Amino acid sequence: MKSKVYIARAREENDLLSAIDTLLERVWPDGISSNDLTAIKLHFGEKGNKSFIEPRYVRKVVEWSKAKGVVPFLTDTNTLYRGWRCVTPSHIAIAAEHGFGFDEMGAPVVIADGLRGESCREIVVDRNFYKTVKVGFEVAAADGLIVLTHFKAHELTGFGGSIKNIGMGCASREGKLSQHSTGSPRVNREKCTACGVCIENCAFRAIELSDGRALIRPEVCSGCSQCIVVCPEGVIHVQWNESTARVQKKMAEYGLGTLKGKEGKYLFMNFLLKITPVCDCFGHDRPPIAEDIGILASNDPVAIDQVSVDLVNSGGEDRFRDIYPQIDWSVQLDYGEEIGLGRRTYELIDV
Ligand code: SF4
Ligand code: SF4
Repeated sequence: MKSKVYIARAREENDLLSAIDTLLERVWPDGISSNDLTAIKLHFGEKGNKSFIEPRYVRKVVEWSKAKGVVPFLTDTNTLYRGWRCVTPSHIAIAAEHGFGFDEMGAPVVIADGLRGESCREIVVDRNFYKTVKVGFEVAAADGLIVLTHFKAHELTGFGGSIKNIGMGCASREGKLSQHSTGSPRVNREKCTACGVCIENCAFRAIELSDGRALIRPEVCSGCSQCIVVCPEGVIHVQWNESTARVQKKMAEYGLGTLKGKEGKYLFMNFLLKITPVCDCFGHDRPPIAEDIGILASNDPVAIDQVSVDLVNSGGEDRFRDIYPQIDWSVQLDYGEEIGLGRRTYELIDV
């Protein structure tokens, strides 16, 4: 059986903003009811980045949702790395700076995983890597989910699409760390000033001063990653030691957890516009790797990512492997299908 994926192509004669209505009409889930609290998951862009989804498209989705009687809110989770999006106050501030304020959107920004990325709901998935996954609480608590993804190449997973948006993008900070790393964060002891802030903020008492520098005891550390964001010197780092294949598989299992309990209440839109070589977490823009292709919509996260990859690679070459030859991006699609996240076979329908 094939999953349906709809496309509004980026052509001079097509008004992509109006096409959002048609796309939503095709994929609006039957299960979403009036007054459902509905999370619109997107990436607001790191400070300095300009490749995130344009606010006018997001506003259109908000307007459509409200017309359907649901109560939408815009959301994302805090980042694992230090930056503007690593704690909720500055995350909301950068969202507003990028045009996602309440006045422009008509819906509030509610960061999904609490003030410092600590708030989550544990959801049973019972798969190969995880028995349970830790999804940002407000996404887990929402009735419905609309996932808006700026589709692009990605330095860690080959490409970043809907699977990544619901897998990594909806995980709490602890969930993100567990996907990226097999170990605890690590202190760059040469640069540690022994200020003690990390020790005060570690709820698990996993950090101590040793030889006048902070030291994390891995046997006690929970992986919550609070120390990374509270260290004023920025000298506590993730050990990015997980292989890309395992990250992609873990991400797919997390995606399954994000969707669990929302069957018939979610949809995906991939924006194949400004298709950059890196994630929107970078604080600067890079030239696109392909021409604008259009906007896709589906109820299947695997199918919409498969179509997105196929469209970018339609000229015959693998643009993702050209940029990241060491990354086999197909793992997330294969494994996503294997665990029941969606299907790789699709029917592509022009609107
Ligand atoms: S990750 Fe969490 S538990 Fe581990 S040392 Fe840092 S603050 Fe403590
Ligand atoms: S917060 Fe940073 S600088 Fe301060 S003790 Fe911890 S690691 Fe060292």
